[in-house]
Amino acid sequence: MSKPTTVITGGAGFLGSHLCDRFLAEGHRVIAIDNLITGSADNIAHLFGNPNFKFIQHDVTEFIYVEGEVHNVLHFASPASPIDYLKVPIQTLKVGSLGSHKALGFARAKKARFMIASTSEIYGDPHEHPQKETYWGNVNPIGLRGCYDEAKRFAEAITMAYHRHHGLDTRILRIFNTYGERMRLDDGRALPSFVGSALRGEDMTVFGDGSQTRSFCYVSDLVEGIWRLLHANTHEPVNIGNPSEITILDFAKEVQKIMKELTGKEVGITYKPLPADDPKQRRPDITRAKELLGWEPKVDRAEGLRRTIEFFVKKTALHTNEFDSARS
Ligand code: NAD
Ligand code: UDP
Repeated sequence: MSKPTTVITGGAGFLGSHLCDRFLAEGHRVIAIDNLITGSADNIAHLFGNPNFKFIQHDVTEFIYVEGEVHNVLHFASPASPIDYLKVPIQTLKVGSLGSHKALGFARAKKARFMIASTSEIYGDPHEHPQKETYWGNVNPIGLRGCYDEAKRFAEAITMAYHRHHGLDTRILRIFNTYGERMRLDDGRALPSFVGSALRGEDMTVFGDGSQTRSFCYVSDLVEGIWRLLHANTHEPVNIGNPSEITILDFAKEVQKIMKELTGKEVGITYKPLPADDPKQRRPDITRAKELLGWEPKVDRAEGLRRTIEFFVKKTALHTNEFDSARS
């Protein structure tokens, strides 16, 4: 039998590139489509030359064309960090709306299964805690995060419309804060931002008093959840995330400790004002994922942080050496 073909939009991004690796390892042909607005060809450079992998540089808000059979379409294209989507709010709205429409139309034309990468942000600054999939959320449509949150809410709505109206085989994945190798040090999310500051010899900046909470999931756990969700028979949204909740201040202190162990550097913490609409608490209820997928996270934060921080430290050292030798 020929290999299944999986198209991954946003395939050169942090999560998309890990998905390319996983689907190739599972024996799929993988086609990554990305316009590189927040991603990088570096994330998939190791796959160039693999006969089962193809990269198409393309903006998925425009018509998507791929020759031949396609079995799965995973729509992951979208700026994902608050700093990124504040820089490109209109592209963010377009990729969540027009891009989702194009990706759905493409999946329908190919009779493929479709998955949308949605987000815990659709719950906004939640009044229900932890967040179950049945919670409708508390989102400010005209706030700074509105461009991302509302685009993702629209993406879920149009996904359900394609399912109900066209019978498309769809999956809605609600991802909670995920971290790991290949995040960009300058993407502004809490972990890379803390490590980036520490590597530059600056203090880590905690926003507000740091009492807001998040629940961080290591990338390999998320990828396993995605693989299982794609192969499960459900069209309802499913939360995938790690329910281990921590305040941002305690998270910064954990990073401080690991930085000290790995590099010997002492890093300080300074405080900056909390950005508007920054959710006060976030923790996934993963009962549905456990029941439907038999999934739960395996990598604890100490281990995941160590692996990710080691990646950042090595990458920075490599770039520094390259820079030094280029200058000499
Ligand atoms: P990322 O920025 O690393 O990856 C997104 C990729 O999409 C990038 O490579 C970017 O260049 C590409 N892209 C953006 N607009 C595009 C367009 N119009 N056409 C083609 N490509 C385009 O971010 P990520 O963290 O890997 O996030 C991937 C997906 O997962 C996003 O949809 C995001 O909303 C979702 N998500 C991520 C998290 C997380 O914690 N990482 C949490 C919730 C949801
Ligand atoms: N945060 C922080 N310092 C930073 C970056 C982020 O204190 O340098 C905070 C941010 O205000 C939020 C939390 O860390 O409360 C997680 O931020 P991130 O951007 O990683 O994800 P999101 O807010 O989208 O969950």
